[in-house]
Amino acid sequence: GKPATALGIDIGTSGVRAAALAADGTPLDMSAFPFPSAPAGRMPGMWWAGVQSCLAALSARLSFAAIEGVAVDGTSGTMVALDATGQPVGEALMYNDPCPDPAIIERIAAHAPADSPARGATSALARAIHLSRRPGVRTVVHQADWILLKLGLATATSDENNALKTGYDLATERWPDWLEACGMDIALLPAVERAGALLADIGPAGRALGLPAGCRYHAGTTDGCASFLATGASAIGDGVTALGSTLVVKLASARPIDAAGYGIYSHRVLDFWLAGGASNSGGAVIRSFFDDAQLKAMTPHLQPDVPTDLAYYPLARPGERFPVNDPAYPPRLEPRPADDVVFFQAMLEGITVIEKSGYDRLVELGGPKVRSVRTVGGGATNPAWTRMRENALGVPFLAARSAEAAVGTASLVLAGKARWS
Ligand code: ADP
Repeated sequence: GKPATALGIDIGTSGVRAAALAADGTPLDMSAFPFPSAPAGRMPGMWWAGVQSCLAALSARLSFAAIEGVAVDGTSGTMVALDATGQPVGEALMYNDPCPDPAIIERIAAHAPADSPARGATSALARAIHLSRRPGVRTVVHQADWILLKLGLATATSDENNALKTGYDLATERWPDWLEACGMDIALLPAVERAGALLADIGPAGRALGLPAGCRYHAGTTDGCASFLATGASAIGDGVTALGSTLVVKLASARPIDAAGYGIYSHRVLDFWLAGGASNSGGAVIRSFFDDAQLKAMTPHLQPDVPTDLAYYPLARPGERFPVNDPAYPPRLEPRPADDVVFFQAMLEGITVIEKSGYDRLVELGGPKVRSVRTVGGGATNPAWTRMRENALGVPFLAARSAEAAVGTASLVLAGKARWS
């Protein structure tokens, strides 16, 4: 078979995965390490155990001899405090943990620019400031940064994607001074490089896991950006829709799209900007009425070319952020027809309209014309829904190469090597 050239490691919400790619981007093999429990997923030691397990499994199945680069993605905003020896000080604060100290949130609200992604109740910067106050802390890093350190990188180094919600300034390419006014000692934060950039030659810890001399560390990314890259989307105008519990649309743009009110901010990835918006609508609403087996059984009876015109807006509770920003936005799921298939179809139609409005909103805010859509998530398996969405969006629907963030991160290694070496 083809030799493995790039390795991507994904620290996700439910476990660790690693993917090996050939030089032409073909996924060769994957391994997975599910966290034994949700609390275990909070422990940095468990992330590292997962990385060791995944690399051991992969190296037993394919040769690492030709691997040229490795990168790591993590959940965006998960932060770890480290002591002078690089050991974690206490538990991590996870991407969705509110900052335990509301005064920090208030200070960020007072000093951060109005459109900063570091604002809000689940601010990554707030978690970083809180962690920086634990006794003995010398460095505060993102989840993915810590894994690079464990793999033997000598200095704490992050990437622009992970650093964005911690307040990193993409225009000046530095940690901005206002972080200090918020209470963050910038000296405790990692260096930051472009996502995918070459960092250093592999150190002893990486070689102990079988990575060859000459293999390089690359700056990684977030799990969200990695999932976009995994699909194969890479050109301006490429869109990716995630039809999971929530509906998320992402678009590669030539210019950043930033609209804090809609929860939209842009990541710099290679030579494009990745902007996305998340609706509160999505598959979780459908799931509250039907289980997956029922959905599967009803799917062949859907009539994608015969709309119900029920004009639903499926939400579990009032409130929407994107594509409309209205905390009181009402759900609309009535009248409920007697026929469950019609009810199901009307919910799919409603989510389809939201998807279309989502892309329209990104274009309106300065994004490019959408030229293709790739789909991931549970809803991607429904061919009738795909047809409804094709009818509504009127652009080519392309197959996603992979839905695995680890594959996206491995492809970032290949792209980073091509761009920067
Ligand atoms: P998560 O965001 O939780 O990872 P998944 O990507 O696993 O979600 O997708 C789960 C969602 O997929 C469920 O909420 C369900 O509504 C939706 N789903 C599952 N099967 C179908 C189907 N046949 N048609 C439409 N939606 C489906």
